[in-house]
Amino acid sequence: RAKSRGTSCYQVFDSSMYQNALSFLQLDTDLRTAIKEQQFRVNYQPIIALKTGKIVGFEALVCWHHPQRGLVPPGDFIPVAEETGLITEIGYWVLRQAGEQIYHWQQQFTDIPLTISINLTPRQFTQGNLIAQLDEIIRETHLNSRSLKLEIKESAIMDNLKTAQIILNQLRQREIQLSLDDFGTGYSSLSYLHSFPVDTLKIDRSFIQGLDEIPQKLGLVPVIINIAQKMGMNVIAEGIETAHQLAQLRQLNCDFGQGYFFSQPLNPEQAVNLLLSFPQW
Ligand code: C2E
Ligand code: MG
Ligand code: MG
Ligand code: MG
Repeated sequence: RAKSRGTSCYQVFDSSMYQNALSFLQLDTDLRTAIKEQQFRVNYQPIIALKTGKIVGFEALVCWHHPQRGLVPPGDFIPVAEETGLITEIGYWVLRQAGEQIYHWQQQFTDIPLTISINLTPRQFTQGNLIAQLDEIIRETHLNSRSLKLEIKESAIMDNLKTAQIILNQLRQREIQLSLDDFGTGYSSLSYLHSFPVDTLKIDRSFIQGLDEIPQKLGLVPVIINIAQKMGMNVIAEGIETAHQLAQLRQLNCDFGQGYFFSQPLNPEQAVNLLLSFPQW
């Protein structure tokens, strides 16, 4: 019954429970309680520079420790929180938690320049108080804004072109970095990439899986890497699970990688242990 979803956040309840209107309300109520009683945790998945094989940062992934239902993965509650608007509060908590954590690790591991990547839903991105939230967190955690990376999907920009432009400019002024998550699954319109200051493309894991297939499906992977490099952007391959995928990506000159081959998302204690071992892949 329990479906494995990685070490730190696996599904132990049946999400179809929440699929009717009554359950939707129940989930909304439970989420409000979860915020009050601090039932959320952030897990950290390392991001590796493929040239050196070293850790350069972490992606923050939220998880919900429900007192009765156990661990609830983000895919089962973020969409509801997005719909009800609770995402604003949950998102603020994640930003703050992850910001404090990375600042702390930066002090502890001064010879590893660490960044933190944080996911934002379209609503978080365009809601209007994002910049104020970020300014407050940067001020109060003492985090250097340059070590902060925000991950959004293309649709967050494409569905709100005007607002997105304003927010992107404000992020730029603060030198906060921007990554396009799950790249290749949405519009992938190259013309808009030109007019938006995007730092990083994250190649969706569905394309990385193809690298293991016979005959191999390189698909969009070399194309995305080429475009990114021509436009002065970085590329992260997400969902690297095998040594073969890693070797292929290195051959294609992909900058960064992330996935179970290196590490699953880790709780803070596990992440510190990993950093202490100075791994090099
Ligand atoms: P994402 O940002 O694309 O995150 C990557 C997802 O892939 C994570 O799932 C991660 O655990 C999983 N993953 C990493 N490496 C591998 C691999 O090698 N193989 C496979 N099969 N999967 C891998 P997770 O934690 O369940 O998160 C799902 C999505 O939920 C995220 O996708 C992101 O869109 C969203 N999310 C997670 N945390 C937050 C958050 O704090 N705020 C917001 N707004 N969204 C979040
Ligand atoms: Mg992400
Ligand atoms: Mg992704
Ligand atoms: Mg994804």
